[in-house]
Amino acid sequence: MNQLVCPCCLAGYSLNEPRWRCECGSYLDIEFEPEFNCKVISQRKPTMWRYREAIPIADDAHIVSFEEGFTPLLEISFDGRPVLVKQDHLFPTGSYKDRGATVLISKVKELGIAEVVEDSSGNAGAAIAGYCARAGIRCQIFLPSDTSAGKVAQVKLYGADLVKVPGNREDTARAVLKAAETIYYASHSWNPFFFQGTKTFAFEVCEQLGWQAPDAVILPVGNGTLLLGAYIGFQELQKARIIHQMPRLIAVQAENCAPLYRAFMDKSALIPKIEKKDTLAEGIAIAEPVRGRQIVDAVQESGGSFIAVSEAEIKEAWRDMGKRGYYIEPTSAATIAGVKKYLSPAEREEIIVSVFTGHGLKSTEKIAKIVK
Ligand SMILES: *Cc1c(COP(=O)(O)O)cnc(C)c1O
Ligand SMILES: [Zn+2]
Repeated sequence: MNQLVCPCCLAGYSLNEPRWRCECGSYLDIEFEPEFNCKVISQRKPTMWRYREAIPIADDAHIVSFEEGFTPLLEISFDGRPVLVKQDHLFPTGSYKDRGATVLISKVKELGIAEVVEDSSGNAGAAIAGYCARAGIRCQIFLPSDTSAGKVAQVKLYGADLVKVPGNREDTARAVLKAAETIYYASHSWNPFFFQGTKTFAFEVCEQLGWQAPDAVILPVGNGTLLLGAYIGFQELQKARIIHQMPRLIAVQAENCAPLYRAFMDKSALIPKIEKKDTLAEGIAIAEPVRGRQIVDAVQESGGSFIAVSEAEIKEAWRDMGKRGYYIEPTSAATIAGVKKYLSPAEREEIIVSVFTGHGLKSTEKIAKIVK
């Protein structure tokens, strides 16, 4: 049956309820039977909506889209070893968050909701604001007061109401929860419709490989919106017998904020409280991820692992990418630092996929500092 389900108390709710969280307080997941007709899909426009029958929006008229997605899967060589890097910094608002935003805001439109709230370290807020602008839906975006000027400007230009919250990312998350008591929370970490969009990452990768799964997928992880989305997507393709195994999911965190890396390494059932230090990788600097346990379980089940990268490694990867013509933001450089670490220990013959998650133009001030 198609429904919202609680992984904690197992309650079920209709997909037509404007609900982003369970009565019991847990986040929700979505049970949905996707359909794939590979022949039909391959003849459609090159956007992520080509997987239309796998996306739980009832009516086409509610789709809010810029015809985004189906980004190139570009081969980049690291010390002679090829890695296929999905160019997800090329989305309309400058990050892969648009995958989630197009589906979530389509659902908001379908529910007939006129206003939403969202909080973010930057890119998710920009994506939700951009898609709300396209749909004519009002939105309030809560941002930590130290967010990059570029990201703040983008949210403002889209016409969103900006709420700057003093303190850190976690203070912002607490402030928005208060607002979400009365306004629908279009949250990239809580709202399960967001993950129904990010799962198209897996569909595109497999289709671009000739409907095959790669062996390993290396992704950045803060709140896990891309990693959990990819996990759902690969699982759905496996259930549909289009691919035959789940790729190993390799999750990259910044050493300065790595609660999930710690939990994985320590085989700890609880996600540890960490002392968060500043990191260039602001997009993944999440000390208390809502779906922390779910992320660690997904990585474990896939046979994958966690990698933590230092600030020096992030800088080095960033400079290296720039010299080769790739203009990415530091969070994306952290992923590439993870790719380099993954490749270094052993010689392997395998198909490896990774991603550029955010565009360099998002981080002009930080780039100005490292090129000085
Ligand atoms: C959001 C984001 C990430 C990581 O996403 P999580 O959902 O927090 O795991 C990585 N890179 C960029 C550029 C992002 O905006
Ligand atoms: Zn529940």
